[in-house]
Amino acid sequence: MPAKNDPQKCLYCAGCLIVCPVAAIELAETRIIIDEAKCIECGACVRVCPVGAMSIAKKVS
Ligand code: SF4
Ligand code: SF4
Repeated sequence: MPAKNDPQKCLYCAGCLIVCPVAAIELAETRIIIDEAKCIECGACVRVCPVGAMSIAKKVS
């Protein structure tokens, strides 16, 4: 599953945009847009986020 953003937690600091190796994350005013087709599920955005607003759901199988 591609990364997901929790808008309730997100501070829109842009930290995750900077670390994403494939530029899958975009900041549009007060919305984080993740290009699911680009995301390689590397977890960098999850690790860098200071408030835990990024998550990657584990694959079921
Ligand atoms: S690093 Fe976290 S708080 Fe900052 S923009 Fe990304 S999801 Fe939001
Ligand atoms: S998991 Fe990796 S590739 Fe996907 S949006 Fe986050 S930093 Fe980018």
